[in-house]
Amino acid sequence: ASFWSKVELGPPDPIYGLTEAYKACKNPKKVNLAIGTYHDDSGKAYVLKCVRKAEKLLDSMRLNKAYPTALGNERYRRLCEELALGRDSQLMKNGVLASMQCISRTGALRVALDFIKSFYAGKKVVYLPNPTWGNHKHLIRETGLAYEQYRYYDNKTVDMDYRGMLDDITQKIPNDAVVLLHGCAHNPSGHDPSRTQWEELSDLIKQKNLLVIFDLAYHGYASGHFEVDAYAVRRFVEEGNKCVIIQSFAKNMGLYGERAGCLIITAESVEEKRKILSQCEEIIKSMYQYPPIHGARIVEKILGDTGLKAEWKLEFKLMSDRLMSIRRTLKTKLQKKARYVIGIILLNNVECFALLDCLNLRAGFWTPRSTTLFMTDMKIEYSNFHKIFLPNISSRTIITEN
Ligand code: PLP
Repeated sequence: ASFWSKVELGPPDPIYGLTEAYKACKNPKKVNLAIGTYHDDSGKAYVLKCVRKAEKLLDSMRLNKAYPTALGNERYRRLCEELALGRDSQLMKNGVLASMQCISRTGALRVALDFIKSFYAGKKVVYLPNPTWGNHKHLIRETGLAYEQYRYYDNKTVDMDYRGMLDDITQKIPNDAVVLLHGCAHNPSGHDPSRTQWEELSDLIKQKNLLVIFDLAYHGYASGHFEVDAYAVRRFVEEGNKCVIIQSFAKNMGLYGERAGCLIITAESVEEKRKILSQCEEIIKSMYQYPPIHGARIVEKILGDTGLKAEWKLEFKLMSDRLMSIRRTLKTKLQKKARYVIGIILLNNVECFALLDCLNLRAGFWTPRSTTLFMTDMKIEYSNFHKIFLPNISSRTIITEN
């Protein structure tokens, strides 16, 4: 018998199921909204002009492809710190940020979790918001750590459950445990705490001496501004919380497949930082040895050049504004033209609808204030729809005839 004869088929990926359904759909107006990527009017993943420019410059430099170090591009790491924490960050000035280039945010989280598993002196349980990005649980499980959930979103009130979140952090989460927060544009609910609430959370979490993992997945997309969206993470760090920040340029620079990410761990001294980096280096070497070089070079070129950086911010603003305007158009069109509407309501977001057979929009889009939308020309039964759609998220699904 084969060595692998006992291997069973892995669980179906709900997003993959949607993509397959999308491919099979014959409607010429179909739009694939199954995955969180920004598409242009032709329905293709969009490459930013500043990225093209940076690539041209890189090409003209005739750089070689030698191995980098395990911790990656030094200048890139400094620029990532600056984007997340601001040029005036005291910890940056003190040189106590242990940062390393990682394989996008997913890779950064995996390295962080391995590091926590081996070295964290507190309680090794990670508390996740309910709901959260599906892969958080998967990664934690694979690392061999435990996770629990705290209340974040209430399906009954279709709103953020800030009270529940506060109560859970106060009563359910033990001191010294680990809590994961979405730094902005919470996925999938789109709801973030207000500034005052972030401040309250920062105080409470500091009191409880929790380690915070900040997932900065959609930095920029919540407000269209990087400084505004970095409010929570900067506040927590300034207030002396112990933070692990995972960051990437997948969404806000459209570098999805380049896997340009960064992991930043706040240390208490330069000596502690050196030790953290040396152990993370060991973890990285045992996993994949070196991070990929190209994406980080693009980011370095853009963030390290005042002109290109300004172009990026401008282009990014156009992208985030366009998302919002498409959503508004979608809502209007839905209201006017929809024959069948499938809505997956995770939030108090009435715009969050997908419909069958009627839209004239060619652009796929993702928006932090909504959830994934799905269109097809088949009428899908409620029960089937639930099976393929986000089975691990307690969403309310509605299919209506208009
Ligand atoms: N974290 C959240 C909340 C996400 O939504 C995603 C991707 O969709 C990721 C992490 C993974 O990002 P990356 O492509 O940078 O690994």
